Amino acid sequence: MSTMAEGEIIYLDNNATTQLDPAVIEEMLPFLTKYYGNPSSGYAFAATARKAINLARERLAALLGCEPAEIVFTSGGTESNNAVINSALQFETRGKRVVTSAVEHSAVLRPCQDLAKRGCDVTSLGVDRDGNLDLAELEAAILPGTTLVSIMWANNETGVVFPIEKIAEICREKRVLFHTDAVQATGKIPMRLRDSPINFLSLSAHKFHGPKGAGALYVSRQTRFSPLIAGGGQENGRRGGTENVASIVGLGKAAELALKYLAEGQCNIRSMRDRFEKFMLEAVSGASVNGAGAARLPNTSSLSFQGIESPSALLLLARQVIYCSAGSACRTGSQEASHVLRAMNPGSDGARRSLRFSFGRFNTDAQIDRAIEVVPKVIEKLRQSAARTPVAAAV
Ligand SMILES: *Cc1c(COP(=O)(O)O)cnc(C)c1O
Repeated sequence: MSTMAEGEIIYLDNNATTQLDPAVIEEMLPFLTKYYGNPSSGYAFAATARKAINLARERLAALLGCEPAEIVFTSGGTESNNAVINSALQFETRGKRVVTSAVEHSAVLRPCQDLAKRGCDVTSLGVDRDGNLDLAELEAAILPGTTLVSIMWANNETGVVFPIEKIAEICREKRVLFHTDAVQATGKIPMRLRDSPINFLSLSAHKFHGPKGAGALYVSRQTRFSPLIAGGGQENGRRGGTENVASIVGLGKAAELALKYLAEGQCNIRSMRDRFEKFMLEAVSGASVNGAGAARLPNTSSLSFQGIESPSALLLLARQVIYCSAGSACRTGSQEASHVLRAMNPGSDGARRSLRFSFGRFNTDAQIDRAIEVVPKVIEKLRQSAARTPVAAAV
């Protein structure tokens, strides 16, 4: 049985970002110190950096089940998503229609809103109470002028997993490009892109124990791609700019580790999440799981609690050094409730009463024990204070 160290924080926000794996740091360091050559330079000293990038590309390709040449390194998930939306609409002149979902990350939503402002027809598909898409509705939304369908693989707030292979197949039959924001799915769900109908896939290193500011875009061999960032001929002319060598090396190592842990089975993270969730449902009345009836990532638990306001809950939990979030991290500071939870339950205030706990391989059983002890007490405390101030409770 593990115990907790003095001052140890309980980080249950692994969908916001993750701790760097020490093995990742170890592989990155020489590229910040010794091997500072520009990978594009011709001499042997620089070849060390070039070879390291190639190794990272092979390791990531192994995780995705694709060819190394199908990978373009980027600055992260946001850039990858923007690059796809930019590219797909440059080539296709036969129409300007994009189909996406109402629960996408802002790194897809915002560029789509920009397209709409520029006169593009953007169809945003709704979801049901469990966060599921209706595939018949998706198919019907693909009209003759549709250029791109962009649907995330797994939702960052609820962990709900969409049937991406089926959706990609529908798009292939309709001859429409298909992109998936797989930032949350990468390293958590086995993938095999070889022979799959997915054209584009976005991922980000810092969501699977790699460094921030590094990511990749998978572009299938048959798919045309026009770069978002033009410059030198880096990344086979698909992404200009001197490579972020150390971070790409870190991404590659993180991918290798993710594949190893996936192959060994993620039972530990799933069982931690399940134990936490089961306990919360039993110990706290008026608690429910967002997306309970859908397929979900093994690491995410989005819970709604009657009679609380999530910002106050986050404050009290942070005082106990338990870190989780209400919706996505990108919204912190904004008073707006999660668009994902609102899409699942339009008439309800559930979005304002929800907390997301997301687990990772550095969490321990002792940390889960502590969270199980503290979270119900915090909810109880908030409910008592809400009962004392009926005005606030009635809002
Ligand atoms: C974190 C996240 C992103 C953004 O990735 P960055 O590398 O932080 O830019 C995009 N989509 C989803 C689903 C995410 O969870």
